[in-house]
Amino acid sequence: MTHKLIEGFRKFHTEAYGEADLMARLVREGQNPDFFIISCIDSRSNPGTIFKPEPGTFFAHKAMGAIVRPYKQGTALAAALQFALDYNGVKEIIILGHTGCGAVRALVEKLDDEEISSFVDVAQKALHTAEDCCNGVCTHDELLRHTEEQIVLLSAENLKGYPSVARALKEGRASVRPWLFDMANGNLLEHDGNEFKPITDH
Ligand SMILES: [Zn+2]
Repeated sequence: MTHKLIEGFRKFHTEAYGEADLMARLVREGQNPDFFIISCIDSRSNPGTIFKPEPGTFFAHKAMGAIVRPYKQGTALAAALQFALDYNGVKEIIILGHTGCGAVRALVEKLDDEEISSFVDVAQKALHTAEDCCNGVCTHDELLRHTEEQIVLLSAENLKGYPSVARALKEGRASVRPWLFDMANGNLLEHDGNEFKPITDH
């Protein structure tokens, strides 16, 4: 089974340790990524795949639904953000939600699994906002889509409560970008303050 991974590593090795010797430079000079990407655990929406990044492009944090919980000291995300912003000069924090998200479906359809629901239920507010937007006339798929969008926005809002993010925003060192990967149509969307709009043209 793991041969798929080892085959992939061989390809990566050819690219990163080959002629350009990217890894040698990164090992010698250290990393200096501009981005911090918070994404879902979904295997189809992996930023390491969809952005075709060179090594050293971004820090990555994953959570179901790309959900960012309100700040609490000592969490994996709080420590990672502080490391990225205060010690590594990250300039853009991207929250990458995606369509067809299993975590969002678990929230909307109230999956009977205490372990999962105790995590995704933190985004109840996003579901309520989506239900208000729908005003009882959306299809179930439309409600899922609205909720996917609202979770990205709620996560962006919650991020501002993280001290390292609040400082970086106040000092103009970094910005937070709410993005959504529309898997079915192969588009990337960004919220412009009013709505999610494609930033790609497929
Ligand atoms: Zn997902």
